[in-house]
Amino acid sequence: MLNAFLFITLVTDSILFLFNLILSHNYSLSIVHLGIGIPIFYGLILLRKKKNYRLASYLSTLILFLGYLTLIAVLKGEHFSMIWSYFFAPFSMIILGARKGLFISIIFLFFALSLSYTGVGTWMQGLWDLASYIRFAISQIVMLYVIYAITNSNEKAYEKIRSLRQRELAQLKLFEKLSITDPLTSLYNRRSLDEIFPKEFYAAQREKKYFAYLLLDLDYFKHYNDRYGHNKGDDVIREVAALIKKTCKYAFRIGGDEFSGILIADSSEKIKKRVNNLRRKVYDLKIEHSQNPIAPYVTCSIGVHIVQAYEYDFIDIYNNADTALYKAKAQGRNKVVYL
Ligand code: GH3
Ligand code: MG
Repeated sequence: MLNAFLFITLVTDSILFLFNLILSHNYSLSIVHLGIGIPIFYGLILLRKKKNYRLASYLSTLILFLGYLTLIAVLKGEHFSMIWSYFFAPFSMIILGARKGLFISIIFLFFALSLSYTGVGTWMQGLWDLASYIRFAISQIVMLYVIYAITNSNEKAYEKIRSLRQRELAQLKLFEKLSITDPLTSLYNRRSLDEIFPKEFYAAQREKKYFAYLLLDLDYFKHYNDRYGHNKGDDVIREVAALIKKTCKYAFRIGGDEFSGILIADSSEKIKKRVNNLRRKVYDLKIEHSQNPIAPYVTCSIGVHIVQAYEYDFIDIYNNADTALYKAKAQGRNKVVYL
């Protein structure tokens, strides 16, 4: 908008400059137009090249403020010159906003009316009489009010649309998050696995990295719930989920007490170290589990399949991790088994 305003002002000003210089030989007026044109041109450069909207808008408002008042003072009402002053209010309110624009327009109007009052009875061979002055003043005030009302209501409507749009976007984000995460742990859900898994696999393949898929299942967790209640059980699920999240690049809750995770590293040793630590950290939470036949605390079993990512075969990797988990359970639980 400012760009269009400045451009139109520059073109109009240039035409008037040439008109006064060449056709009507009014040199003082040409200088006024030159005085308006040069800073407006600079404002355009500020806006287009330097993208400095703020400075360009203040500068252009100031130039028009001084320029239109100078026109009134120099031309003393001749050639309908005071018509130009009507452009100040719409310009400043659209460029600076309704409130700031109104404030500066009132100051402008104060000077414009004061200046033109000094000419009552003398300007335009006396044609500029008190009645003309009052007509000018009233029409300026009406103009000011109309422009303010329009700009203000536009701004309010725009603000409403903006806040609605923001709320919509926030809701959309929330829905998006809800659709890909598990509400209890805020880990990714089973559905996200299908999307994330191949992407990560191909990325590991490109970078020639090791890719691991792990499945983790809490041991004797049904007993835990029976003994300590479902709410306590939920707390355990959340705590274990937090540990998996820290260990894996991506962590998923894929069933009741079953989790999975993707790890990527440049050696299988690094992956093993991290997964072994994960099992130990779950144990180190030292969450009492008196119904666990193998330990006094909550424990977990982990099955892992590590590949150097050559070929994509999701089912194989998943099945191998599942078999590894099964083995970890069969071998007495609280273990990590690699395939
Ligand atoms: P195992 O060592 O063979 O894994 O024994 P388990 O008792 O853990 O057996 P399984 O993994 O099959 O049982 C999962 C239990 O997890 C069953 C259910 O009581 C519990 N569970 C499933 N979802 C939730 C949940 O959202 N919250 C809580 N608190 N418990 C859950
Ligand atoms: Mg279990």
